[in-house]
Amino acid sequence: MTMKKLGIEDLDLAGKTVLMRVDFNVPQHADGTVRDDMRIRAALKSINYVRERGGKLVLMSHLGRPKKVKDDAVKLALLKMDPVADHLRSLVGGNVTKLDEVAGPAVEAAVAAMQPGDIILLENTRFHPGEEKNDPELSQQLAKLGDVYVSDAFGTVHRAHASTEGVTRYVAQSAAGFLVAKEMEYFGKVLQSPERPLVAILGGAKVSDKILVIDNLLNLVDTLVIGGGMAYTFMKAKGMEIGKSLLDKDGIEVAAKAMEKAAAQGVKLLLPVDFKVADAFDNNANTQIVAADAIPADWEGLDIGPETVKLFTDEINRAAMIVWNGPVGVFEMPNFAVGTRALADTMAACKGVTIIGGGDTAAAVIQFGLADKMSHVSTGGGASLEMLEGKELPGLVALTDKPGGCGCCCCGG
Ligand code: AMP
Repeated sequence: MTMKKLGIEDLDLAGKTVLMRVDFNVPQHADGTVRDDMRIRAALKSINYVRERGGKLVLMSHLGRPKKVKDDAVKLALLKMDPVADHLRSLVGGNVTKLDEVAGPAVEAAVAAMQPGDIILLENTRFHPGEEKNDPELSQQLAKLGDVYVSDAFGTVHRAHASTEGVTRYVAQSAAGFLVAKEMEYFGKVLQSPERPLVAILGGAKVSDKILVIDNLLNLVDTLVIGGGMAYTFMKAKGMEIGKSLLDKDGIEVAAKAMEKAAAQGVKLLLPVDFKVADAFDNNANTQIVAADAIPADWEGLDIGPETVKLFTDEINRAAMIVWNGPVGVFEMPNFAVGTRALADTMAACKGVTIIGGGDTAAAVIQFGLADKMSHVSTGGGASLEMLEGKELPGLVALTDKPGGCGCCCCGG
C-alpha cells in the first residue's frame, strides 16, 4: 500500500481500447434476468468516463458460480452474460455487443473492429477453465484485448484470477476505476492515516473467521467494539456463562489472546453488557433483556440489549472515524435487528467518517435505507475484510504508477 496507485483519470483514453474488469455478478430472477442492477449502475461512472473520452470498452465479469452447476445445462445457461448485456444496453442507450466467448481469435477480431464509444461484454469469465486458475495463457489472451486495463470490481480484487490479477502482468498500464479508487481511499485512510479516535466495530458469527482482522485492528484502533455472535466467544474466554448462545470453540483462545493484546497495547475493548435473549432461534420466540453475566442456561443471545446500545453508540458519537464489519445481532429477524439498526442510525447521524464493510453489514445498512448517509459502504465483503487484515490484495497490487513494473513492495520495479 505504499506506492502511489494509478487511477482511471491518470490514463490517456482517446482512441484507446480499455479492458475493464467490472462486478456484474448481479442477483437474478429465475429466468436469468437482472433482479437488482445496483452493481451495474455502480460501474456506470467509469464506463461513461471512458466513452466520453473517446475510448472503446471491453468489459469482463463473472456471474455466479458456474463450477457448482457445471453438470446442469439449464442452470449453467442462466449464468451467461446475455441478460446482463441487455440490461446494460438499456442503461447506456444501445451500443453493447455481447460475445459468446471469454477469449480467443473471434473475440480478438470483434475487438479489432470496435469504434470509439463501443462496448463489448465478454462471456462470463468463470466459464473459462483458466480464470480461477489464474492461467497465464488466458491472462495473456485477455491482455491482448486492451491497450490499458482498469479494475472496477472491488468484490473480486482479493482473488488472484486471470481477469483480476493475471492480466495485469501483461498489460502496459493498470489503473483503478472510480469504484475501486474510492474503496482504496477509505480503507487506505483506516490503515495508514486514520482520524482519531478510530473505532472499529466487529460483529457477525465467528471469531475464527476474523482472527487476522482482529489482530491487525488491534494495531490500529483506539477502541475495538465486539458485538454479534462473536461476543459470546469472548465472554466464554473470560469464563462467563453464555447459555445456548453461539460459541465458536476454535475462537476461544483467539479471543483470550485478543483481550491480552488489547490490554498490552492500551486499546479499549468493549464487549456487550446486556443482551436480548430468546428461548429459540426464531423471530417469534419468547425474549427477555438480561445482563451479560445473567444469561439463563436454556436461552441464547440474539441481539445486544439497550445498555449495550447506549455504550456502543456513545463510542460512535465520540469517534472521528468508525469502521464497522459484522451485524451485532441476528438482523435478518426483525425482533433481533434492533441493536444493528441503532448502530446504523447513530453512524448515519454522527460527525465521524463512517466506513461500512461489505457483505452482511452493507446489506443491513442498505436494508435500513441508510447507505447514502454513510461516508463509504464497501461493495466487497471478502475484499474489505482482507483489506482490514492489512493484506495487499492481488487485484490491487499492480495498479501502480509504474507501467510495466512488477508491482511488488520491494524491488522498486
Ligand atoms: P459473518 O458472516 O461472520 O459476518 O456473520 C453474519 C451473521 O452473523 C449474520 O447472518 C447474523 O445473523 C449472525 N449473527 C449476528 N449476531 C448473532 C447472534 N447473536 N447469534 C447468532 N448469529 C448471529
